[in-house]
Amino acid sequence: MKIWQTLLNLILPPRCIKCGKILSVKNGLCAECFSKITFISEPMCHHCGIPFNDAVNIKFNTVQYCGKCLQKKKFLFELQRSAFIYNDESKDLILDLKFRDKTAAAEILANLLYTAGSDIWKEQPDILMPVPIHHKRLMQRRYNQSALLCRYLVHKTGIDADYTSLQRCRNTIPQVQLSGAARRNNLKHAFTAVKPQNIRGKKIVLIDDVATTGSTLNECAKVLHKAGAAAIYSLTLARTQK
Ligand SMILES: [Zn+2]
Ligand SMILES: [Zn+2]
Repeated sequence: MKIWQTLLNLILPPRCIKCGKILSVKNGLCAECFSKITFISEPMCHHCGIPFNDAVNIKFNTVQYCGKCLQKKKFLFELQRSAFIYNDESKDLILDLKFRDKTAAAEILANLLYTAGSDIWKEQPDILMPVPIHHKRLMQRRYNQSALLCRYLVHKTGIDADYTSLQRCRNTIPQVQLSGAARRNNLKHAFTAVKPQNIRGKKIVLIDDVATTGSTLNECAKVLHKAGAAAIYSLTLARTQK
C-alpha cells in the first residue's frame, strides 16, 4: 500500500491547494499560504462564532457571547461556525471550489470544516444538509460545492447527509451581485422542504461554502424550522468579517 502511495506521489505529487507548490506531505496548504489565511479560533462568540479581535478582557476557556448575541432572545441557529475569514487571501479557495472545477481541494477543505465544527459535533446532530442549488445551475456547474464538502464530512463524522429534502425551487440571481435588502428579497420562497417527514424533530447541520450576509443560510433555516426541525446549526468554510 505504502509503495503505491510513494509511486503515486512521484507521478502526482501533492500540491498546495492555493498556490500549487509541490508539498512533501498531503496536508493541503503550504506554510506560506497557511500563514496568510485568517483561521477562526478561540476566543470567539460561542453562539455566532464571530472571533473576538479585542484580546483585552477576553477570558480563554470560558463560554462567551458577543454583544449582538447577548441581546437576542430568539435564534435561527443553535450554533454557527466557520473555518476562516473570507478575504482577499482566502477567496480563491472558495472560488476555485465553486467555479473553477478544482474539486480535488474539497477533501482538504472538508477537513478544515470538520475542525471548525467541533462544538457542533458535541451536540450530536442527526443529519448534514448542504445548501441546495437550483437544478438549472447544477446542470451548468455539474456539481454543488456544498454537497461535495458534505460528502467528505459524512466520512469524517459518521453522520448521514440528506441531499434531497431541502430544495431550491427558484433559480435566484447570484447573491454576490446584490446587497442587503435585495439579497433577502431575492431569496424569498427560494427554498422548500419537499420531504418534511425527514426534517421533523431532527437536529440539522447546514453546510455551505461561505456566509456573507447570512441571508441564504437564514432562509434555509426558516424553511427547516417551519418543517419542524428540532435544532439547526450552520457550518461554513468562510465568513465575512463585519
Ligand atoms: Zn501555497
Ligand atoms: Zn455572537
